Amino acid sequence: MAGGGIVHLVGAGPGDPGLMTVRALELIAQADAILYDRLIPPAALDGARPGCDLRYVGKQPGDAAMSQEQINSLLIELAAGGRRVVRLKGGDPFVFGRGGEEAEALAREGLAFEVVPGVTAGIAAPAYAGVPVTHRDTASAVAFVTGHENPEKKASALDWEALARFPGTLVFYMGIKNLPTIARRLTDAGRSGAEAAAVIERGTLPDQRTVLGTLADIASKVEQERIRPPAITVVGPVARLRERIAWRELRPLHGRRVAVTRARAQASGFASRLRALGAEVVEAPVIRIVPRAIEGELAGTIETIDRYAVLCLTSPNGATLLFDALRATGRDARALAGVTVAAIGPGTAAELARHGIVADVVPERSVAEALVEALESVPVEGREVLVARAAQARDLLPEALSARGAEVHVAALYDTVAEPLSDDARAGLERSDYVTFTSSSTVTMLLEALGTTDGLPQGARVVSIGPITSATAREHGLTVHVEAQRHDIDGLVAALVADAG
Ligand code: SAH
Repeated sequence: MAGGGIVHLVGAGPGDPGLMTVRALELIAQADAILYDRLIPPAALDGARPGCDLRYVGKQPGDAAMSQEQINSLLIELAAGGRRVVRLKGGDPFVFGRGGEEAEALAREGLAFEVVPGVTAGIAAPAYAGVPVTHRDTASAVAFVTGHENPEKKASALDWEALARFPGTLVFYMGIKNLPTIARRLTDAGRSGAEAAAVIERGTLPDQRTVLGTLADIASKVEQERIRPPAITVVGPVARLRERIAWRELRPLHGRRVAVTRARAQASGFASRLRALGAEVVEAPVIRIVPRAIEGELAGTIETIDRYAVLCLTSPNGATLLFDALRATGRDARALAGVTVAAIGPGTAAELARHGIVADVVPERSVAEALVEALESVPVEGREVLVARAAQARDLLPEALSARGAEVHVAALYDTVAEPLSDDARAGLERSDYVTFTSSSTVTMLLEALGTTDGLPQGARVVSIGPITSATAREHGLTVHVEAQRHDIDGLVAALVADAG
C-alpha cells in the first residue's frame, strides 16, 4: 500500500449546502483531489484548498462522461500515488450512488478508504416537502427503491407484487421517466389507486417543487406540471401529511430569485436574511468598498477629531471605517466624548452602537435631506463640522451645513469602485425575479457592467432602498417596482416580502 493515500467516499447531501456534514466539509478542505458528481450542492467545493485537483466525473443524462470502470481506475491511481482523495457524491454514497462498487474496487487493490454517509434525497426531499417517510399511525416501514433499473437486465429486478404488498412507505429514486409504468405496475399488482403519492422536484434546493396526488393520477399531474429530474416519488398515506405540515414552500420568498448587487463585504447579512425567507440569492456585487489609507491630511483630521462640534456619518460603512481609522491612530470611541454624533439613519446608528457610541441625532428616513432637517436643532454656526463618508457621494449635506454658517470638512474614508461581474453573476442576473439596489452607485455600476439597460432580465422587478436610489434608477431609464419604506436592509426585505405576497 502506498504511503498516506486514501479515498474518502463522501456523501454531499441532497442539495441544500446546510445539509452537508461537518466531516464532509473537513475532508473537502483537506483533499488533494476531489472527484465529484453532478448532483452535489452548489458551492460544495468552495472550501477546497487552492490547487486541489477538482475533477468532474458525473454523467449528463444520456451521455456518460466517464464509465464506472474509468472512475474506479482513477480512484485507484490517485490513492496508490499517495493522494488524499475525496469521492464526492450527491446524497449518501451507498444509496443508489455506486459507492459500494467503488469501495469494492479499492478493497480489491488493498487501498485505504473511508465512508462518510450523507443525508439521502429519499428522506430529505420528502422532509422539506412536509412528508415524514415514517409515521407512528400510518407507516411503520419505508422502502427505498430505484425507479431506473439496469437497462441490461432483461427481466425487472423489482418484485412488483412484493412492493405492492409492502406494509409501509415506498420511496422511488430516479423514476420520473418511468413514473407512469411504476404507478401502473403497483396498481396492477394490487396497491390502491386511491393511495396518496407525492413527487418532489429538486428537493431541499431553493426552487423545490412538490406535486401531490394519488397513484391513479400522479403521473398525469407530474406531466402537467412539467416536473423534471432530479425528483423523488413517495407513495403512501404519509404523502398527504404535507397538506398539514408543509413548511418550506410556504416561506414568503420561496422560489424567488433575488439578485444582490451591493458590495460582497456588505452582502452576507442581506443575503442570509433573504435565504432564510426562502429566496434563492444571486450574488452579483457590482461595487467594492476600498478604504483609504489613514495618512496625510486624513490622518490629521482623525487625530484631531475631538475639535469638531459635530460629526456626521452617512453610511454604516463610514461608521465601521471611522473606528478602524481611530484605531489606526491609536485611539478609540473616547475620542468622540465631546462630539455631537449624527447618523443618517437607523442602520448607521446601529453600526455606531456596535462601537459603543449612541448617536445624538438619527432621522427615521436614511436620506441626506432628513439628516439636514434633524440637524436643524443643533447649533452649527461658526463651528467645525466633520462629514465622514465615501469620496463619491452627494454634496447636499455639506452644502446645507455650510449655508448655515458651519465650517464643514469632508473626510473621505473610502472609495466606491466598480467590481467586475463574474460570468456566474451575469447568468444568475438574467434569471432573476428581483434585482435589488441598495445605493445609487449599485445602479450606475450595474448598468455600466451590463453595458445597457436592456441587460436587465425581462420581467425582473427592480427593488430600491429609497428615493435617492430610485431617482438614479429612473434617470437611467429603469422602472422602479418596489421602494422600501424604511431605507435600510430591514426595510428592503420587508418591501420585497410585501411585493412577493
Ligand atoms: N446517492 C443519492 C442518490 C443518487 S441516485 C442519494 O442518496 O440521495 C439520483 C437520484 O436521486 C435522482 O434521480 C433523484 O431521484 C434523487 N435525487 C437526488 N437529489 C435530489 C434532489 N435534490 N431532489 C429530489 N431528488 C433527488
